[in-house]
Amino acid sequence: MAGEPQDDCLFCKIVAGQIPATIVRETDTTVAFQDINPQAPTHVLVIPRVHHRDVAALAAAEPAITADVLREAGEVAAQEKLDSYRVVFNTGSGAGQTVWHAHAHVLGGRGLQWPPG
Ligand code: ADP
Repeated sequence: MAGEPQDDCLFCKIVAGQIPATIVRETDTTVAFQDINPQAPTHVLVIPRVHHRDVAALAAAEPAITADVLREAGEVAAQEKLDSYRVVFNTGSGAGQTVWHAHAHVLGGRGLQWPPG
């Protein structure tokens, strides 16, 4: 059921502490941790504790938690002392989404090109 932990979800396992992650911030509703394959000097993922397949599903079901994720993305950037950074939600396989638990990428610490590839 949407929102419930999924047995086959990597990020639900990180939320549950069943898979290790380098956690940089936690709240009642979110977890932020280092991306295992960083694409920038700062590359942190912010996820809701609840399971939804992408940010659109999360926003439809849990608008307050979606706001928590966005606020935490800003808190990560402040903690990392980033003046400029990018928050990305890859949504759908054609956009590169590979983990089907909504997550914000917080990227910074280098120049970022626009448009992204
Ligand atoms: P993509 O793999 O194309 O970036 P996503 O937007 O779905 O697709 O992002 C999933 C992210 O999760 C990737 O940046 C990947 O490096 C990261 N990741 C995968 N496994 C782990 C893990 N065990 N710990 C931390 N980050 C992970």
